[in-house]
Amino acid sequence: MPRPITATLHLAAFANNLHVVRRFAPTAKVWSVVKANAYGHGLKNVWQSLAQTDGFALLDLAEAILLRESGWRGSILLLEGFFQPEDLLLIDRYRLATAVNSDWQLQAIAEARLQAPVDVYLKLNSGMNRLGFAPERLHNIWQKAQELRNIASMTLMSHFATADSTEGVAQQMATIERAAAAITLPRCLANSAAILWHPESHGSWVRPGIILYGASPTGNWRDIADTGLQPAMTLSSEIIGMQTLQQGDRVGYGGRYTATGPQRIGVVACGYADGYPRHAPTGTPVWVDGVLTHTLGSVSMDMMMVDLTPCPQAAIGTRVELWGRNLPVDNVAAAAGTLGYELLTSLAARVNVDVVR
Ligand SMILES: *Cc1c(COP(=O)(O)O)cnc(C)c1O
Repeated sequence: MPRPITATLHLAAFANNLHVVRRFAPTAKVWSVVKANAYGHGLKNVWQSLAQTDGFALLDLAEAILLRESGWRGSILLLEGFFQPEDLLLIDRYRLATAVNSDWQLQAIAEARLQAPVDVYLKLNSGMNRLGFAPERLHNIWQKAQELRNIASMTLMSHFATADSTEGVAQQMATIERAAAAITLPRCLANSAAILWHPESHGSWVRPGIILYGASPTGNWRDIADTGLQPAMTLSSEIIGMQTLQQGDRVGYGGRYTATGPQRIGVVACGYADGYPRHAPTGTPVWVDGVLTHTLGSVSMDMMMVDLTPCPQAAIGTRVELWGRNLPVDNVAAAAGTLGYELLTSLAARVNVDVVR
């Protein structure tokens, strides 16, 4: 028997979540963001459940090729563009659309020998100061790009830094409006948070990532609890050992938890080598057999300990949910000082994946 830890993928959740995206952005087309191996869910496992999308967006040429070779014939967008001029051969062969965020990329497109012109997403730096052209250069770049025969179409792209906070997108939207005042291009701006909370940013194409997987862009589950979004992954395991502590007994590496009285604890087959956050402190929520309880002491590589006080019926073999349908990944992430994004994308390769329709 393999270790009992399993990531169950609820395929119906993907279609549901895409539907929710369309409800929030009814007039926009959707790039479903499947970078980082579909946020840790496995690109191969999930893309067919999102086949109603208008396109898939990712970063890795290797993932784009995998998607093509798995049978997806629709649009694919490289969100970070390409990393060297030779990549254009593969962009051409696999009919990929690409972001362009630097002069050298435009130059490379101008000089490439392509079978067919390429769709380009011109990336504007509207305030995040990560990738993209400075606002005052956009108009020039756009005019230059218009002359290139290797470009089939252009879309204006930008990315928001604070769409998930009270600061919102107003300042970046103002920068975009100023930079693009005389530029007649379709726009592709909104990430998950902007899709949910900033309809003025939707434009022609939206780019949902985290909400397709049923987690919150803010890190707070309550912010999406009423949207109809559903967790697409449940990470579960089993209790493989039990101990009864007496007052003063300590638990795990470093003896970080000390019992204040008699206490039954369970040992769960899940550790940081499975992708569970090592920094999750005592008190991080865990769902055991229908009851919400919490971790005790530090998380080991392959195991962790949980309080069984609220679940006296728990025994060896009892099912444990680390996150998923009964326990939002956001709640675990919040306790561990991180985001659902990080937990989902950190799922380890050694965890069995079980796909349910
Ligand atoms: C990751 C990413 C997205 C999706 O972000 P979410 O917050 O997961 O919706 C959108 N656009 C770009 C450029 C990205 O890198």
